[in-house]
Amino acid sequence: MGFDEMDVDTIWMDGEFVDWDDAQVHVLTHGLHYGSGVFEGARCYDTENGPAIFRWEEHLERLFQSAKPYDMDIDFTKEELTEATKELIQRQELESCYIRPIAFYGYNSLGVSPKDCPTKTAIAVWPWGAYLGEDALENGIEVMISSWRKHASSQIPTNAKTTGLYVNSMLAGEEARRNGFAEAIVLNKEGHVAEGPGENLFLVRDGEIYTPGLSESILDGITRDTVIELAEDLGYTVHDNVSISRGELHTADELFFTGSAAEVTPIRKVDNVVVGDGSRGPITEDIQSTFFEVVERKTDEYDEWFEYV
Ligand code: PMP
Repeated sequence: MGFDEMDVDTIWMDGEFVDWDDAQVHVLTHGLHYGSGVFEGARCYDTENGPAIFRWEEHLERLFQSAKPYDMDIDFTKEELTEATKELIQRQELESCYIRPIAFYGYNSLGVSPKDCPTKTAIAVWPWGAYLGEDALENGIEVMISSWRKHASSQIPTNAKTTGLYVNSMLAGEEARRNGFAEAIVLNKEGHVAEGPGENLFLVRDGEIYTPGLSESILDGITRDTVIELAEDLGYTVHDNVSISRGELHTADELFFTGSAAEVTPIRKVDNVVVGDGSRGPITEDIQSTFFEVVERKTDEYDEWFEYV
């Protein structure tokens, strides 16, 4: 669904609430030419205690951390961005939504050095259902190993959520969709399993849970962290600092993706090889249902993870 079909009309930009159609930048914006922006993607859930942003603090923290390698000073404090986001949700009377903060080098000159370009900051919110579809959450998706590799962390900081990085995600995802798959899995430069184009990956084998370590050129996903904590609280053993080979995907009992957009999405086939019995596995289901109970506040635990609007 395109933005024009959505009931949203306001964007926060550099300290002001502006009409959706007026949230514009110049075509010679540095970030447009060189991918010099950092961004976040978070979700506000319609909880039993009203709309609440899930792990907002961690998303804001990652936004500021992502800006560091690029010497980018975000001109607003975390408190100001929090207030702006809450007001944006309130003004548009949204109960649940996706939240997209972005900071990028703006318009002044087009040398690769952004030295004289201002930092622009904006926040948009809009309703967004299941990223890979409702059916995906229940029945899982079919994925392929991309022929594209992830950037190595020696080439670009892969732990920063930088706009320019996402052309790699786009290539991998579109290659997969052209071949009839819902999403890709991307290997790192060493050939180990890294992550999805916009998701972290988990594997289940013999009742234990595995996910590639942070040194595998992955984004330090906030849902990854959430799932590790929930799984441990459920009593599972989680190995979160391992290398996973391509072949291990084929022999896994279960696989699933995590992400703020993708939430917890089972994977039922990799490269046309059936994973487990080809449906959402029991451990994936346990973690997924716990995840949704938590984000919808059907339990009082983990209240510190919420920023109420
Ligand atoms: N890896 C990549 C490349 C991503 O874009 C995302 C989405 N932000 C993730 C992993 C998952 O991270 P998170 O759970 O913080 O959304």
